[in-house]
Amino acid sequence: MKLLEERIRRDGVVKPGGVLKVDAFLNHQMDIELFAAMAEEWKRLFADRPINKILTIEASGIGIAAVVAHHFGVPVVFAKKTQSINLDGTMYSTRIQSFTHNRIYDVIVSTRFLSPDDHVLIIDDFLANGCALRGLLEICEAAGAAVEGIGIAIEKGFQAGGDELREAGYDLQSLAIVEAMDPETGAIEFRS
Ligand code: 5GP
Repeated sequence: MKLLEERIRRDGVVKPGGVLKVDAFLNHQMDIELFAAMAEEWKRLFADRPINKILTIEASGIGIAAVVAHHFGVPVVFAKKTQSINLDGTMYSTRIQSFTHNRIYDVIVSTRFLSPDDHVLIIDDFLANGCALRGLLEICEAAGAAVEGIGIAIEKGFQAGGDELREAGYDLQSLAIVEAMDPETGAIEFRS
């Protein structure tokens, strides 16, 4: 998506270690007009899917997912990161390795908000190794919910997550795929 690529080039900051900082418009200060344009693009890409729920993970997915949910006219559920898991059967839970914080989180969704009746579009801000997405997919599987598609704002194509998930058969639509980036010059190359 040209608009997002241009914004990444303009306001994104390439950090050492394969990290792209986009806190000026995506995950700290949030440009809601841009999110609305992204939501429209996912609506077009997933137009033939019977989506009745958006699923994301806290914290940085929530803003984008809320705007997407508004455009689809469906509720949004966010998986919560937690310290203590209550194993009484009222929660679906999984463990996720965080790329940016280099730690493991327990993540939960209440069984009240995800069921076999649901047709889910998963939304997140970034895709790197795919750990966050695999956790959300596990939760959908535990709930018996159908995954209709996955919408990612920025995929780092030089990390394995995206290609692995496409190979596994998921309809994964990333609006910008960064193929390479250079922390010395700040240059960013996108997959065409
Ligand atoms: P994964 O689980 O795919 O390895 O990483 C995805 C998660 O890590 C995203 O939800 C995002 O919060 C965070 N993340 C991964 N790479 C980056 C990055 O380059 N920049 C930022 N800002 N977040 C990232």
